[in-house]
Amino acid sequence: MDGRTILYRGILKSCNYHCSYCPFSRHPVSERELAKDREQWFSFIRFVERHVAGWGIRALMVVPYGEALIHPWYWQGLAQLSALPQIRAVGAQTNLSFPLRLFTDCFAGVGGQKEKLRLWATFHPEMTEVSVFAERCRELHDQGVQICAGAVGVPQNLPVLESLRRALPEEIYLWINKMDGLKRPYTDQERAAFTALDPYFIRELLPVPADTDRCRERLFAEGDGRLHTCNISPPLGLRWAEKNPDLPAAGFPAPVCRRKICSCYLAYGGRNDPVSRMLFGPYPLFRIPRRPRAVFLDIAGILLPNGECMEEFSVVLPLLAQEGTVLFLTARLSYREAMERCQSIRHLFRGGIFAGGAYLVLQSEGECGEGREQFFDLDEFWNSAEPFLQKMARCYAFRILCYKHKGRCYKITLLRPRHRPWEEAEAHRLYESLPGKHSVRAIRQGSCLQFVDRRADQAGGVRLLCRWMGISHTEVFLDSAAGEEETDKRKGVKE
Ligand code: SF4
Repeated sequence: MDGRTILYRGILKSCNYHCSYCPFSRHPVSERELAKDREQWFSFIRFVERHVAGWGIRALMVVPYGEALIHPWYWQGLAQLSALPQIRAVGAQTNLSFPLRLFTDCFAGVGGQKEKLRLWATFHPEMTEVSVFAERCRELHDQGVQICAGAVGVPQNLPVLESLRRALPEEIYLWINKMDGLKRPYTDQERAAFTALDPYFIRELLPVPADTDRCRERLFAEGDGRLHTCNISPPLGLRWAEKNPDLPAAGFPAPVCRRKICSCYLAYGGRNDPVSRMLFGPYPLFRIPRRPRAVFLDIAGILLPNGECMEEFSVVLPLLAQEGTVLFLTARLSYREAMERCQSIRHLFRGGIFAGGAYLVLQSEGECGEGREQFFDLDEFWNSAEPFLQKMARCYAFRILCYKHKGRCYKITLLRPRHRPWEEAEAHRLYESLPGKHSVRAIRQGSCLQFVDRRADQAGGVRLLCRWMGISHTEVFLDSAAGEEETDKRKGVKE
């Protein structure tokens, strides 16, 4: 993740809409509550201003019970936050019923940075006309505000949601949330119809097992001071407050969670998951898609231990490829080994970075154009190193695999039995004893100790493939596993 995201929910539980199914539509609100909500919100903003640097906060989203953006203090507060240089994205969930012109004038008047503003607009068929809602989305979109629109996937509302899709500008993503109160599974027909509206609807239907390791970069803050990891996890036992000596200035609170399943988008969408970041950029909670020109995925990250493609990937990768994103694999395996493992999805990829960066390939697009490839050959010592290495084979219990192209070696793997993985210390000892160590990069992974040319790494491979395609490396999505290669380079034989 590119910095941390905080969700904020104030104390109000009220709404100007009166949808029949919604508890907040009937909740009265007093002037005292409104004043308290305002006071807490500005206090929270002062808290964020103090912690934005130490905590690495980069994005903040208001996720109210009911509607918050009918209250101008939220306009001012979001504008204030967007003006902080560290903050890259601010926004809110909203029914979009607030006066647009007053909102944008106020936001600009307080020094708000419109390009950082992101709105998640929910359509309520009982309360709004399709044409009115779509027009409001269009107006904000035309003003440069990033916006997504969506609704709950109520089967009876399918026709009206289909007309909403037709009325919205094509560039505005329409999401569909699964209907929690449906009390039956969607039929195949309903599932297909909602998927036609929202290509990522399937993500709402797949169970997402909880995994707190993916929730280290996010927090959920309530107006009364309580902090949680996410909106469905228990309180952390810490409270935000403008001056709370118990809160660490620099350390971000560690996640606490007792859930088995991350059961809604605000929970799973805020996890550090490659699919979320690939589809929605560095701050996926706002749900505004970004279309990377190219995607680099580490093979280990997209495959299950049994070698099958994870269901989420098998759904979204064809969609991305269809939309013109070029997909690449990254692997420490050779090209042939990697392709054998990815049988069912190999056709989606146009090449990638293999053998730990020692082999790059960009295949031609269909019949058009020419493909390109590059091998980073090992130097003379390594091309004749087998007898030398053989002398150590018995002591270290490995066998030598030499990967060659046109008679030149580009990767050497010292492979041990599966039950004897390379320990860091012994891999280091062996590496240090090699006369040719300065020309190679050593990669330790389980029972494999691999050597590739020093110039070969995944970061360099990404840059070169981008150059071949004529795109900037800032336009690509890089699975975090690709970055790990840098660690290998620095540390010599680290995993
Ligand atoms: S329930 Fe929330 S805190 Fe727990 S793993 Fe899921 S997203 Fe993270």
